[in-house]
Amino acid sequence: MDLAFTEEEKAFRAEARAWLTAHVPGSPLPSLETAEGFAAHRTWEAELAAERWSVVNWPARYGGRETGLIGWLAFEEEYWAAGAPGRVGQNGISLLAPTLFDHGTEEQRARVLPPMATGEVVWAQAWSEPEAGSDLASLRSRAVRTDGGWRVSGQKTWSSRAAFADRAFGLFRSDPEASKPHQGLTYLMFDLRAPGVTVRPIGRLDGKPAFAELFLDEVFVPDRDVIGEPGEGWRIAMSAAGNERGLMLRSPGRFLAAADRLRGLWRQQGSPPSAHDRVADAVIGARAYQLFTYAAASRFLEGASLGPESSLNKVFWSEYDIALHETALDLLGDEGESADSDWAEGYVFSLAGPIYAGTNEIQRDIVAERLLGLPKGRR
Ligand SMILES: Cc1cc2nc3c(=O)[nH]c(=O)nc-3n(C[C@H](O)[C@H](O)[C@H](O)COP(=O)(O)OP(=O)(O)OC[C@H]3O[C@@H](n4cnc5c(N)ncnc54)[C@H](O)[C@@H]3O)c2cc1C
Repeated sequence: MDLAFTEEEKAFRAEARAWLTAHVPGSPLPSLETAEGFAAHRTWEAELAAERWSVVNWPARYGGRETGLIGWLAFEEEYWAAGAPGRVGQNGISLLAPTLFDHGTEEQRARVLPPMATGEVVWAQAWSEPEAGSDLASLRSRAVRTDGGWRVSGQKTWSSRAAFADRAFGLFRSDPEASKPHQGLTYLMFDLRAPGVTVRPIGRLDGKPAFAELFLDEVFVPDRDVIGEPGEGWRIAMSAAGNERGLMLRSPGRFLAAADRLRGLWRQQGSPPSAHDRVADAVIGARAYQLFTYAAASRFLEGASLGPESSLNKVFWSEYDIALHETALDLLGDEGESADSDWAEGYVFSLAGPIYAGTNEIQRDIVAERLLGLPKGRR
């Protein structure tokens, strides 16, 4: 594998760095988990999109720069190093868009992707249900055929930022007679403000109101909002799940920047020798994750699929994130506990990492069975 960047990639990185230096807000935006922060982050998405920085790896006709995955990884490194705001459009950009590229129609791509790139339409992921999280295929929300579309009813839960988002995508049972649970599911996009949709915020540990559950009562979804063939929803959704865990959700750029901040904090606290090894582990871990991800991206570009290796990444970044934040809080002592500290907020969120995007227990099962070839566990 050639680890050197091409001249074109280096020039792109320099252009991104210069733009970010000139445009990243001088003080942090309010949390995107609040109404005020959500609105501020939408404005930032529009600013990014105006100069085609919001989705650099997408085709130009939808607002991208066609950089490919390596360019995207380089952009992410510059983005997080510049201290730029979190991405409010992430669910759509990292989960729905790759699905539409692979399984959507040209009409869907042309209609859905440009307003996603600008933050005009922010998407929520509506997969989980009260009794269908790890065992997603047991979901019960249903889609029933009607004139020109579907009537959708049921309950979805744990939907990140759904309280303020515009639209959502999720799986629905369209054939209750199908012989296996993951058959007879249909993948749909729907409007969170359509008649029949109730969005109810779920209280989070930090009190921010964006997390929500959704109640759907005979919500009309037109045929044009079905992704792929009806009944094929499982196969279509699973092709996106690897993207979320393995690559797009938590790029190495985030952790390189966080490890750098941690190193700065350690120095600022007088370089205590007691924390030296943990800070060094954080720096080495970020670099290892970066190299592993570049290797996976290179294989992907040569035609391999991301596959079960995504699960390795997911377990790694989620556990890494907790360790990094714990080290920071230990360095800060009492000061770190303050509710206003970025490190304290990051720590609380890092605790959810082993749960969302598929729990780490499930990821370890996937690694055991599909990568190591171990026998199936007892379920
Ligand atoms: C911060 C956060 C954001 C989220 N955002 C979204 C979102 O935007 N959209 C969305 O649809 N969902 C979202 N989720 C939901 C998330 O995907 C689920 O919580 C997750 O898949 C686990 O499902 P569950 O909560 O039903 O737990 P369960 O599936 O009930 O699991 C409970 C425990 O049992 C373990 N377990 C279950 N089955 C097995 C097994 N076979 N082998 C070993 N262990 C097992 C699990 O690993 C876990 O530790 C979010 C969750 C969090 C915490």
